[in-house]
Amino acid sequence: MNKQTLTFLGRDSGFGEKNNSAYFEDDNNLFLVDCGLTVFQDLKNNFDLSKYFTISIIITHLHNDHAGSLSQLLLYLWFVLNKQVNVITNCVNMKQFLDITGTPSDSYELLSHLPNLEFIKTEHTPYLDAYGFNLKLNDRNIIYTGDTNTLEPFLPYMNNCNELYIDVSKFGGAHLKIDDIVDTLISFKQNGTDIYLMHMDDKEYIKNVTNNEFNYE
Ligand SMILES: [Zn+2]
Ligand SMILES: [Zn+2]
Repeated sequence: MNKQTLTFLGRDSGFGEKNNSAYFEDDNNLFLVDCGLTVFQDLKNNFDLSKYFTISIIITHLHNDHAGSLSQLLLYLWFVLNKQVNVITNCVNMKQFLDITGTPSDSYELLSHLPNLEFIKTEHTPYLDAYGFNLKLNDRNIIYTGDTNTLEPFLPYMNNCNELYIDVSKFGGAHLKIDDIVDTLISFKQNGTDIYLMHMDDKEYIKNVTNNEFNYE
């Protein structure tokens, strides 16, 4: 039986309706994974953000479908709810990104990792640095690829992985092409890893190619 740690706000690819983003709660703390253009309104309308003891935002890279409403969310939490937020990232340009969008440095604390979260550098596009991560939570060993065009950096972590959240696409390029990795994913599943597909550009095509073997919602 699946025990899915992450709940998704959206699983669409870059130009889709709902940007790829997820969250989990640990005690009274909220952890958000990426904060694309569509995320701020979704959180503001559907979450009681005032109830959390801490809010941490993990950012995989600075494309707008992953960080496009980050500054907006930080400003809102700081000026409206008087909350300082943890921004967890390895993105080399994060400080500059927040500075040029007028985000007060008091409104956030920048952290490069958490005790139970380690970033994994990957390849996505030549234009920016991108990261996935390994998260250990409640005896679950979780790999989240973020946007990636290769599985290589994640392979050393796959042996005892309970949940793999993986960027897949019909067309490849900056993303993993589903046709190229479907056999690898099936072998992961046979080894006991739950596979969650995300950032999908053509869900129907991907469902067909993968024979409905994985989790799509
Ligand atoms: Zn993306
Ligand atoms: Zn991207």
